[in-house]
Amino acid sequence: MTNTIPTLDNQLLSQLGQSIVQGSLSDQQLLAQTSREPSIKILPNACVLKIGGQSFIDRGRAAVYPLIEEIVENLGQHKMIIGTGGGTRARHAYSVGLDLGLPTGVLSVLGTFVSMQNARMIHYLLAENGIPFIEPVQFPQLPLYLAERGAVVFFGMPPYTFWHENPTAGRIPPHRTDTGAYLVSEVFGAKSMIFIKDEEGLYTADPKKDRNAKLIKNISVSELKSLDLQDVIIERSVLDLMENACNSRSIRVINGLTKGNLTRALNGEDIGTLIYVD
Ligand code: ADP
Ligand code: MG
Repeated sequence: MTNTIPTLDNQLLSQLGQSIVQGSLSDQQLLAQTSREPSIKILPNACVLKIGGQSFIDRGRAAVYPLIEEIVENLGQHKMIIGTGGGTRARHAYSVGLDLGLPTGVLSVLGTFVSMQNARMIHYLLAENGIPFIEPVQFPQLPLYLAERGAVVFFGMPPYTFWHENPTAGRIPPHRTDTGAYLVSEVFGAKSMIFIKDEEGLYTADPKKDRNAKLIKNISVSELKSLDLQDVIIERSVLDLMENACNSRSIRVINGLTKGNLTRALNGEDIGTLIYVD
C-alpha cells in the first residue's frame, strides 16, 4: 500500500480546493488565499446590543427599566440580539476563585454563570413581549426568533469555559462579555454592535477617576492603541479582534442612562463613540 494522501474526486475541486485538501494548513500563502471569497453576512439586519454588567445592570431599576422600555419601543423597527455583562458579582466570583487558586478556565465558567444571571433578569423583564433567552446551543434558531419576535437575550460570555486560554498576565479571563457580544456581531455579519454603558463613550481617561478626561467621538483601533490609554471603556481583546474582522469593523459605545440614545444608535445616528478599523 502506497503512503499517499487520499484524494476526493479532483475534478470537482477548484485549484484552491485541491490545495486545501492536499496541502499544508500551515502554509501562509495557501491560508492567505482562503479569504478570496468574502465572508457572507448571515443576519445583516440584526443589531447586537451589549448591556453592561457593572456599568448598567448592577444599577438596578433606575437604569434598567427605562432601557427595557426603549428596547420594547424599538421592537418592530429593529432586530436586536441582546447580550449581558457580568459586573460586580462576576468580579467577586473572580476574586474568591483566585484566592482559592482556581485556573483561568474555571474562572471563565464562573463568569459565564454570572452573565447568565443578568441575561435571565433582562429576559424576564422582556418576557411578556415574547422575547426568548437563548443559550449558545440555541443560536441556530436565532434567525427564527428574530423573524418571529424581533429580539433575543443571550449571556455575553463567549462559551469557552474550561477551554479559555491563559492570559499573558495573571489569571482573569481576558475574553469576557464585551468580547462574546462582539464575536456574535462579527460571525453573523450584524448591521451594528452597540455597547450600552454608563458614560457618553470613550474618553481620554476613565471619567469616573479623571475630571479632565475628554470625550473621543471617533477613533480608529490603531489610533486608540497608539494613545496607549491607561484604561478604556471596552475589553481590550475586542480591539485586537477588530483588527482581523471580516464583518464587524466598527462598534459604538453609548450612554444607555440617557433615554433616546439607544434608539439613535439603532437608527445609525452619530451618538457616543465610534471605534473602527480602516
Ligand atoms: P461593563 O459594565 O460593560 O462590563 P465596565 O464597567 O467593564 O463595563 O466598563 C465601563 C466603565 O469603564 C465605565 O463605567 C467607565 O467608568 C470605565 N472607563 C475606563 N476607562 C474609560 C475610558 N477611557 N473612557 C470611558 N470610560 C472608561
Ligand atoms: Mg467589563
